[in-house]
Amino acid sequence: MCRSLKLSDRAKGILAQRFDKTVWQDWQWQLAHTLTAADLNVPDIASFPMRVTPYYAALADFACPDDPILRQFMPSSEELLPDTYSTDPFGESAHAARAQGIKQRYADRVLAMMNVTCSTYCRHCTRRGLLESARCARLETLVEVVKSTPGVREVLLSGGDPLLLPDAEILRWVETLAALPQLDAVRLCTRTPVVLPMRWTETLVKALARSERVWVQTQFNHPKELTADAEKAVALLNNHGIPVSNQSVLLRGINDAPEVMTALCAGLQRRRVRPYYLFCCDPVSGIGHFRTSVETAQNLRKHLLTHLGGLACPRVVADLPEALHKTDV
Ligand code: SF4
Repeated sequence: MCRSLKLSDRAKGILAQRFDKTVWQDWQWQLAHTLTAADLNVPDIASFPMRVTPYYAALADFACPDDPILRQFMPSSEELLPDTYSTDPFGESAHAARAQGIKQRYADRVLAMMNVTCSTYCRHCTRRGLLESARCARLETLVEVVKSTPGVREVLLSGGDPLLLPDAEILRWVETLAALPQLDAVRLCTRTPVVLPMRWTETLVKALARSERVWVQTQFNHPKELTADAEKAVALLNNHGIPVSNQSVLLRGINDAPEVMTALCAGLQRRRVRPYYLFCCDPVSGIGHFRTSVETAQNLRKHLLTHLGGLACPRVVADLPEALHKTDV
C-alpha cells in the first residue's frame, strides 16, 4: 500500500536545498532545519515527537509508507498500542546509576550521557522514554567515577547524541578521558554517520585523532543508509586512525530479510566499518511492532554465518536486563 504524504511548504523549501551543496553540507544548517511531524502533516506522538534531519529525510521515499528510512523516523499509530513492556527495562534511570547521567552495568565499562537530544529521533529508540527528561553527566564527576573504579577500562560517551555538541566541548571530554592511563578506549556513540554525516568535519576528526584511544560506534540499519556522504564521513575517520564499528538493530519489515542484512554487512565491511553486533529489538514500550520472532533472528544468524566471513558477520545478540554480557541468540 502506498500513499503520498503532503509535505508543508517549509519542508519542500528545506528539501529543495539538497541541490545547494554549500548549504546542505553545513551540519549546523541541517540541525537548525530539522523536520517535524507538522512538516509532514502527520500526527505526532507527544511522548516522543518526530525530528529528522533534512539529509536523512531526503533518503526516504515519501510515496511508500514501508520505506525502510521513512519507518525509522515517521511516528506510527502502532507506537500507541497497549503492550506489557516497560519504558525502562534495563533500569537505566535507576539501578545502574553511579552519578547523574553516569551508568555502569558492566565491570569494565562506564556510560555517560553527554547530551539528551538527537538530530533524528529513531522510532525504535530504546531510550525513547528517557531522552530529554534525563540529566547529563558532568565531566569532572565522570573522571572521579573512573578513577575510583580501577576495573573500568572503557568509557562510552552517549546520549542522546554527543556529536550535537560543539567541537570544543567534545574535545574537552575526549582529551580529558583519553589522558587517564587506566582507560584503553573512549567510545563516541553516535548516529551522526548515518543521519548527519556532514557533522564529521576534517577539523574535528583531526583534533579527535590526536587522542589515540578514540573509537566511533554507530548504527547503520539498512543499505540505503550507505550513501556517498556517509562513506565520506567514515573514510575520514578511518583515514585518521579512528576505528568505526557498527551496532545494527534488528527491525521487523526494515532489515530482517536475509538479503538486506547481508548487503548491509558487506557494504559496511567495504567501507571499513566493522559490523559487530546485530541487536534484537529490546522489549521497550512503544516499539513492540519492530520486534521480530526469535526464530527470525536465529534464521538470520545462520544466513549471515554462511554468507559472510567473520569480519563482516555481526554477532546476533539480545540485551537481557540481568545478564552480565550480551546474550547470543
Ligand atoms: S540516535 Fe540513538 S539515542 Fe538518539 S533516537 Fe536514535 S537510537 Fe535513540
